[in-house]
Amino acid sequence: MNTIEKIKTLEQSALRLEPESSERKVLLDKVISYTEEFLNSIYILPSYFQTEEKGSRLLDFPLAEEPGGIDEILNIVKENVDAPGLNPASRGHLGFIPGGGIYHSALADYMAAVTNRYAGVFFASPGAVRMENMMINWMSEIIGYPETSGGSLSSGGSIANLTAIVTARDAAGLKSIDFPRTVIYTTSQAHHSIDKALRLAGLKESVQRFIPLDANFRMDSKALITTIEQDTKDGLLPWLIIAAAGTTDTGAIDPLQEIGEIANKYKLWYHIDAAYGGFFMLAPGAKKRLAGIESSDSIIMDPHKTLFLPYGSGAVLVKDKTFLLESQHYSANYMQDARQSKEESAPADLSPELSKHFRGLRLWLPLKLAGIKTFRDALEEKLLLAEYFYDKLGEIRGIERGPFPDLSVVTFRYIPVSGDANDFNKRLVNEIQKDGRLFISSTMINEKFTLRLAVVSFRTHLDTIDEFLMILNEKIKFCLNN
Ligand SMILES: *Cc1c(COP(=O)(O)O)cnc(C)c1O
Repeated sequence: MNTIEKIKTLEQSALRLEPESSERKVLLDKVISYTEEFLNSIYILPSYFQTEEKGSRLLDFPLAEEPGGIDEILNIVKENVDAPGLNPASRGHLGFIPGGGIYHSALADYMAAVTNRYAGVFFASPGAVRMENMMINWMSEIIGYPETSGGSLSSGGSIANLTAIVTARDAAGLKSIDFPRTVIYTTSQAHHSIDKALRLAGLKESVQRFIPLDANFRMDSKALITTIEQDTKDGLLPWLIIAAAGTTDTGAIDPLQEIGEIANKYKLWYHIDAAYGGFFMLAPGAKKRLAGIESSDSIIMDPHKTLFLPYGSGAVLVKDKTFLLESQHYSANYMQDARQSKEESAPADLSPELSKHFRGLRLWLPLKLAGIKTFRDALEEKLLLAEYFYDKLGEIRGIERGPFPDLSVVTFRYIPVSGDANDFNKRLVNEIQKDGRLFISSTMINEKFTLRLAVVSFRTHLDTIDEFLMILNEKIKFCLNN
């Protein structure tokens, strides 16, 4: 075979990557009927499904050189991927911090994947870049940041925290030789992604101070002041405060305003982890509790949590965009054609990522289609559902409640008349999870085994909370009798 013939033969094979219209229709119909079946049963599917195989039959279908058939492939996914384990799309996902999965975003992802717009630089896709920046500006407005702010859409909160911490490090001009003297202030309730980000940012040697908590698990701002002053006296370099607007364990909001004043007085960078709580700024019922959020220097928020998007959507915002730019920009000879716009910032200059999914569309499309009010109302509903649940818990004899929820996480435990309360609650959460109709998770707070219910799924409504109360009563009885 000569080269031309070889190319032609390979071309025939490569053309399988380009299904033609009639084949596309078949594939699309099959996939749509798969997702329709899923959605039509989503309100009755269990939230948690324990199976013997745990998806291991997937391994019986290794990748092959030759093409496979869609029916068999979808079946494999159905049985091994979409059945076992936690169903995050379920209304009954009330554990951890649930994710979302609104359909509008799925459509946007489909469009973005088909057109494959590159939203990294203005030159490549001015419209896509405008859209991403528009989403960042919208979030800045929600938080109350000025026009000098900037940010980027990330895969989630962890990368967003990392980006913010690296930016803070660079803004402070810290050198590795300084690291052992630098001090970071946070609380024991900080999300583990903070600790990971500090490590990834090379700051493992920094001193970390875990400021004591008040009775509501919020940072004690007086203790923050005394610790900063003592550290300064001792010749250390305080430089970063990390507060939470909605901790993962209890949903507590640190005293954001007071911490902002402290950061300002002592000239420290102020970062807020609002991965879970940030979008509650849209809900009238939470706005007051989040007052002072705008006094931070940087913040992260997760659209895949409280804007109900599918996984893969976080955001970092920095009040003074130049710090983010100085920390994250890049240049390379092979990008010279693409780097001429002064009109819009290049998302690639404000993020550690270069080529990435066009995330702006999965945010923009749902907001356009459903309208902001829908999200505002859904968030307000979640706050009220948590309050409702808290009140109802008060009527169950033997239940000890945690603090009144700052947002939509409620903590509680059952205190049996005799026996170890930790053991009892461990059994209780196991029984609830094994049952699987609805799902909650547990945590340890001050060595107490604590149950927590988080209302974040957009599919969770009043009937789900009532059903959970029923299940809870049922399982308490079961654990008392067994
Ligand atoms: C979920 C969460 C994170 C981490 O975000 P990912 O999107 O899971 O990476 C960080 N902080 C808080 C408070 C969170 O709830």
